[in-house]
Amino acid sequence: RETERASLLAVNEFALRHFEYNLNETDDGRNIGLTYLQQRGVNEAMIKRFHLGYALERSTALYDEAKRKGYNEKYLVDTGLCIRTDTGRVYDRFKGRVIFPVFSVAGKVIAFGGRTLKKDLAKYVNSPESTIYTKSKELYGLYQAKQAIVKHNKCILVEGYLDVISMHQSGIENVVASSGTSLTDGQIRLIHRFTDNVTVIYDGDAAGIKASLRGIDMLLREGLNIKVLLLPDGDDPDSFAQSHTSTEVEEYIASNEVDFIQFKTGILLQGLENDPIARSRAIGDIVQSISLIPDAVTANVYIKECSRRLDIDERVVALEVEKRRKQQA
Ligand code: ATP
Ligand code: MN
Ligand code: MN
Ligand code: MN
Repeated sequence: RETERASLLAVNEFALRHFEYNLNETDDGRNIGLTYLQQRGVNEAMIKRFHLGYALERSTALYDEAKRKGYNEKYLVDTGLCIRTDTGRVYDRFKGRVIFPVFSVAGKVIAFGGRTLKKDLAKYVNSPESTIYTKSKELYGLYQAKQAIVKHNKCILVEGYLDVISMHQSGIENVVASSGTSLTDGQIRLIHRFTDNVTVIYDGDAAGIKASLRGIDMLLREGLNIKVLLLPDGDDPDSFAQSHTSTEVEEYIASNEVDFIQFKTGILLQGLENDPIARSRAIGDIVQSISLIPDAVTANVYIKECSRRLDIDERVVALEVEKRRKQQA
């Protein structure tokens, strides 16, 4: 079993070098992959730090090279780097894509994400789960971010690969991505190993807001302090970081991140400040979130905040929170 893990990691390590070589040393890699990354504003330092690569178009480019170097076909298939058809033909999963390797917290390559450069149906193709890769327990960028997370005692959570990289390039290095899928408890516990403080910066669209609201309750339940930052509609952290200076990004975060109560009131009362039904819905929603906070002192701080923001008696809020707590028990 240990040797199987080691073999899968070794194949991934080979693939990492293969993809990096393609990007930096082959004509197609340079003309297509590197040009694309340059157009996206990704600099050389980030390409190195995140070990970005390129998968050639030819459907057995990686497979042929791996066989030539003596790697076992079984491990190529088990890592998901290659796919075996019903007829037994084996070909590469990643073709003509820019490659984002996914590292474990200990720095081992456990998976890959590949972005298409064309109008492809699937914008991203990712490695399947395997003995060495459980998607719900990993966070993209954590290996590169963990020192900064500890240093700033704060983790910024974003959606995508390029969000992490562009923020990093702007000097904001305490950033990790849930990689599109909704946040899991395993990922939250992983963050909690390094800090108690999380700022969620999801895409400034409807899907991003929905995902933030869901993420808030999960983070609160784990006992983390959570802030939320809403980007201008249509922006994601990558596009925002690429169109602003480092100082502007830092200042925008500092002055626009809000606690979850303010975030929820903002969304639920948007344009409905004087609507009693909207207000009571907002109260119910916020009270529900507060009731998930394990620490009583922290919960009390938010009860005060809620009472102030929605202008309701503090005791009423506290009573409602207590009621929900009992219902959950
Ligand atoms: P880009 O800026 O290149 O368009 P993005 O990261 O902004 O990329 P989103 O559509 O916002 O792309 O998706 C966020 C993340 O969700 C991606 O980085 C990727 O991890 C994941 N993702 C998106 N689309 C897919 C897909 N079709 N299959 C699997 N994962 C995906
Ligand atoms: Mn803690
Ligand atoms: Mn995005
Ligand atoms: Mn993007």
